[in-house]
Amino acid sequence: MSGLHFLLVPLVAQGHIIPAVDLARLLAVRGARVTVVTTPVNAARNRAAVEGARRAGLDVELAEIAFPGPGLGLPEGLENMDMLVEREHYMAFFRAVWRMDAPLEEYLRSLPRRPDCLVADSCNPWTAGVCARHGIPRLVLHCPSAYFLLATHNLSKHGVYDRVAGELEAFEVPGFPVRAVGSKATFRGFFQWPGVEGFQRDVDEAEATADGLILNTFRDIEGTFVDAYAAVLGRRTWAVGPTCASGLLDADAKAGRGNRADADAGGIVPWLDARPPSSVLYVSFGSLARLPAKQLIELGRGLEASGRPFVWAIKEAKSDAGVQAWLAEGFEERVEDRGLLVRGWAPQLTILSHPAVGGFLTHCGWNATLEAIAHGVPALTWPNFADQFSSEQLLVDVLRVGVRSGVKVPAYLPEEAVGVQVTRAGVEKAVAELMDEGPEGAARRARAKEIAAKAKAAVQEGGSSYDDLIDMIHHVAELSRTKSYERDPSARPLASAPELG
Ligand code: UDP
Repeated sequence: MSGLHFLLVPLVAQGHIIPAVDLARLLAVRGARVTVVTTPVNAARNRAAVEGARRAGLDVELAEIAFPGPGLGLPEGLENMDMLVEREHYMAFFRAVWRMDAPLEEYLRSLPRRPDCLVADSCNPWTAGVCARHGIPRLVLHCPSAYFLLATHNLSKHGVYDRVAGELEAFEVPGFPVRAVGSKATFRGFFQWPGVEGFQRDVDEAEATADGLILNTFRDIEGTFVDAYAAVLGRRTWAVGPTCASGLLDADAKAGRGNRADADAGGIVPWLDARPPSSVLYVSFGSLARLPAKQLIELGRGLEASGRPFVWAIKEAKSDAGVQAWLAEGFEERVEDRGLLVRGWAPQLTILSHPAVGGFLTHCGWNATLEAIAHGVPALTWPNFADQFSSEQLLVDVLRVGVRSGVKVPAYLPEEAVGVQVTRAGVEKAVAELMDEGPEGAARRARAKEIAAKAKAAVQEGGSSYDDLIDMIHHVAELSRTKSYERDPSARPLASAPELG
């Protein structure tokens, strides 16, 4: 047993809380006590997952701290990025995130003993001051790929963002291990927007002063990027992923991941059971990206024309009147024999781990990318924004387990620039290429299976991510002794680091 107490503080977004809860399981199975600190709405969504982990004997718990949104003009209960619909709420949302330091400090003061380490999401740089005041070692958890982190770091460092004329001017990423071409629009850091430079400065500073960095990736796919990133930042870095491949998720845990009431795993599994192996395309754009109705309808027509079975997580069916009207014209009836629509949150890991699934049309969020990789499912890439274009490059150009849908620019550009990026015929062609049973498709599937086996091996005993996690825990044990000594000189350092389980 390590006997260490970790606090994990994810950004309040599904793509950040889900891997944090996965990481909590991984730490707890090594004997640590882990508290995931989040706001009431997010705690409610993840309670079932955490209780499942506790039933499995893991010392994982949730702690709730208030979200300061209402004081900044946000509606009560708007506590997760997937609830942001109005553009004018975005700034207030991140200002509220930055003000979570006071409730976190209040929580820390309520604890009988100082935690040994706080693992802060990179988008929660406000934790740096809290940890400094309380003498708590702090690690930064990054949720995008090392590929994206290194690319955006190099682009800033070499002044490329300042040099290029507009959003779409093409450039090559300098000092990068592979040739990567993109534009400002496709290689933009999370806070690299006019007006929020201050947020980015805080993120950079908190990373530069952290006691180490944790990446949700593994060396077989990103070793060169991880090492290069660790070298440019000069920080200890551990690649401990893919956290979704930990082997610690049973059927219940998979179905309840992200814990949304409308995920109907019960109906989906028998539907998939009735389909031949590798025949089904799973379609999802994650928790945030929403396609405009015009584009979504083209996608639907392309899926219909493809003739392939598909499961489509179509959250727009709940929020977009144009999509609802189109659906009411009989799409579902026309594809009744082979199309299943999930109107909202889908049990993504349940679906991706089912043998009937042979392709994943994905927005290339980093979690979705890792989930495709860990399950050996080739990807049809449809990036929307942020790090998603980087993940597309990694899947298609570096790992060669993906096919591009043909999206060129991010969805946030004005409609004249974006329009319909992939037509019905484009979708049909891309789906045929991905699901192809000829030699190219077979080779892609074989590569995907090979990489999936490496992902699983990485997190097993003796694997690179397993070893990195243990090394990180040792580092924390050591830090915790020295930091407590620093903060309170009268406190005697422990005789030895607690033993690791
Ligand atoms: N997810 C899910 N069901 C859905 C949509 C998303 O379980 O209907 C999960 C998905 O498996 C992933 C996370 O939510 O773990 C989304 O993270 P990602 O980085 O893929 O994308 P984001 O939502 O942050 O754009």
